[in-house]
Amino acid sequence: MSEEKQEYDLNKIYEYENLPDKKAGRCDNCDGVKFKNYVVNRKFIRTCINCGMKKSI
Ligand SMILES: [Zn+2]
Repeated sequence: MSEEKQEYDLNKIYEYENLPDKKAGRCDNCDGVKFKNYVVNRKFIRTCINCGMKKSI
């Protein structure tokens, strides 16, 4: 069986604990390196500027 590319739900906020960066500091979805960060409910949310994938870090 060939390896499937994982699809990410861009409306979801992933937890870093459950989904560590495949490459540190890079977006898992698009491999982008630019993020904007904001705080929601005392959690630090990192959003990829390129694709919008969000991760709580
Ligand atoms: Zn991305």
